[in-house]
Parts: sequence; C-alpha cells; structure tokens
Amino acid sequence: MRELVLLACTTCQRRNYYTTKNKRTTTEKLEFSKYCNFCQKHVPHKEGKLPNPKKN
Ligand SMILES: [Zn+2]
Repeated sequence: MRELVLLACTTCQRRNYYTTKNKRTTTEKLEFSKYCNFCQKHVPHKEGKLPNPKKN
C-alpha cells in the first residue's frame, strides 16, 4: 500500500511537492534536494504529513 506524503522545504517549511512511498519497504523519512520557489534555490525537502484527510 502506497501512501501519499508531502515534501516540505526545510528552510521555509512550505510544502512544495507531493510524492508517494511504500510504507512497508520505506520506513525511514524521505529527504530529497529539490528546488524551492520561495527560497529560489535547491534545498533539502523532508517528508511531512498531509493536512488532515477528511474522513466521512
Ligand atoms: Zn523554501
């Protein structure tokens, strides 16, 4: 089962990217270097939780 996760800029904390991961095979936190429009440079983006998905 793949889970949708957010990638948040570690500098400005903005959530710039979405990705998915397989919870069963990837247990550690994801971290990618990506371009942040707000910082206007590449910065590490870390996995963050999705804002409350609505349940019924
Ligand atoms: Zn940023």
